[in-house]
Amino acid sequence: MKYLSLAETYQQLESTSKRLDKTTIVAQFLQKTKVEDLEITTLLLQGIVFPIWDSKRIGIADRLVLKAINISTGISLDDLEKLWKKTGDLGLVAEQTIATKKQATLFSSPLQVKKVFSNLQKLATIEGTGTVDSKLKIIAELLTSASHIEAKYITRTLLEDLRIGVGDGVIRDSFAYTYLPKLQELELGESNKEYLSLSKGKTLIVENKEELTKKRLDNYGFISINDPDKNKQRIIAREIYNYFLEQIDDAYSKCNDWSKVAAALAEKGLAGLQTISLTPGNPIKPMLFQKAKDIKDAFAMISKPAAFEYKYDGFRLQIHIYRGDIQLFTRGFENVTAQFPDVVKTVKEHITADYIILDGEAVGYDKKTNKYLPFQHVSQRIKRKFDIEKLAKEFPVELNLFDIMYYNGKSTIEFPFHERRALLNKIIEPKARAIVLSQIIVTDNEEEATKFYHKALDAGEEGIMGKNLDGIYKPGSRVGFGVKIKPVMESLDLVITGAEWGEGKRTSWLTSFTLACIDENGDFLEIGKVGTGFKELEGEGVTFQQMTELLKQLIISEKGKVARVKPKIVIEVNFEEIQVSPSYSSGFALRFPRVVRLREDRRVDEISDLRQIKEMFGTQ
Ligand code: AMP
Repeated sequence: MKYLSLAETYQQLESTSKRLDKTTIVAQFLQKTKVEDLEITTLLLQGIVFPIWDSKRIGIADRLVLKAINISTGISLDDLEKLWKKTGDLGLVAEQTIATKKQATLFSSPLQVKKVFSNLQKLATIEGTGTVDSKLKIIAELLTSASHIEAKYITRTLLEDLRIGVGDGVIRDSFAYTYLPKLQELELGESNKEYLSLSKGKTLIVENKEELTKKRLDNYGFISINDPDKNKQRIIAREIYNYFLEQIDDAYSKCNDWSKVAAALAEKGLAGLQTISLTPGNPIKPMLFQKAKDIKDAFAMISKPAAFEYKYDGFRLQIHIYRGDIQLFTRGFENVTAQFPDVVKTVKEHITADYIILDGEAVGYDKKTNKYLPFQHVSQRIKRKFDIEKLAKEFPVELNLFDIMYYNGKSTIEFPFHERRALLNKIIEPKARAIVLSQIIVTDNEEEATKFYHKALDAGEEGIMGKNLDGIYKPGSRVGFGVKIKPVMESLDLVITGAEWGEGKRTSWLTSFTLACIDENGDFLEIGKVGTGFKELEGEGVTFQQMTELLKQLIISEKGKVARVKPKIVIEVNFEEIQVSPSYSSGFALRFPRVVRLREDRRVDEISDLRQIKEMFGTQ
């Protein structure tokens, strides 16, 4: 496939903000994509060249791209820089400058998607001396053979900032559009016609969803609902469509790789999704928990009897063993195996398994008092690249395990919670301040659960978790099988999208930060600014200095004191109240926001979403 075909699709996607339009555009594109190009184009549509769980990154700095544009166009760095300042987007700089010299290379052969993909992947793997030159060569090779639109999107992909608004939701829906039979009675508003035009072939007639789930669908292009009542037809069609989406989501949550899901669907349709299963070494999204108001509410949500566990204030750690090789991942898929040699050693000594996936919380403790420490103390270990052994000694962690998702060749996520816990008990040989199972009780008694809650708080824990004894492990899901109970008002995890330079003695620091939440399309919506809670001195908490260093590298454009930054840094924020506000794109603002901490363990697509904020607004 020509890269131009993809670039034109990007352009179409960029020109609309409507989700249904985007879905149709992606579906139409996938339909003309050959199987051999499918996996790479699926990744490129998301602006990535490795699945999101893979910690390899293109990792190219703005300056290097600027230099590559300079090499491929012959335009001086000064002039390019001016244009960059003006447009605030290196993609546009590439587009405009490449366009002007295009005639000269009119006869070069068209860029192929495969070529772009492999060059971009190469960038992530080059190491050692001469790295910068080799990288420049690889980028310049692409840019010199690119047309102006191609150059724009190659540049943005290089910088991991594609800006076409294609999130997981659009990808998932477009897969249903492309690879599954179309529901004739589904109401999709304006995009009905396009949706139905994506299929050919026979129609399967069913009465309801139950009947459909028993059928093989491979030979059908359409599904129609056999019911005289038009309204009912529509409801059942929607139910079946939602079932398709759930199946796709489920498969995705087991691999976190849309390219795998696309390949499975293209090969065998809905049945193909069954071939996707958990694989140790490939991290999954951890199961999440809803908040319960109190113990009574918790029982209502997870039924009686239920398990209650301490809620530890550490960071979520997923432990994988694949053919004896141990890998550790944060909840944001960061591979932290190198950062935690102490944990690797503990796992090696205390767990015997060739293949396993475990879920737990790594909790820091004070070596002298042996007491647990708040998350901040160990958080610095997560991204650390040097002095790792020293830090491991200074800030040791205890592994508190609470779940198992895979054991020796078999996924255990379908097992009920009580069976998974029993299996954990059997496998783990506990040792205090190294590896233990979370403190747990099983009860149907509110008083007993309340006592346990207070015991947890007295011990300095954040609260307790309640778990449905029969609940399965649903990766990435917040709905259903567990709840958290904690005393403080819930905080939000938000991403920083802008910052402002300070005044007076603070002129060299960024001191005010624009915050955004995420919506269901994966777009960031602003919800306020925070400048409180940061410290001026090292060692007290998150400092302005630290924020400035982190954000300086991410600045996209600046106007006066105000900078727009790439959305990469996630912070946890407390506040007094959520208010309706026309000033921010989310429609909400935070009253008295205050930073709590940096969330190094959280990916940007995992931050608080608009739905959650609306819910919190409704209940406050
Ligand atoms: P929150 O971050 O407030 O949404 O709470 C959920 C987090 O609590 C999980 O993601 C875990 O990192 C952490 N946690 C601590 N103890 C437990 C436990 N016993 N079971 C499950 N999660 C726990």
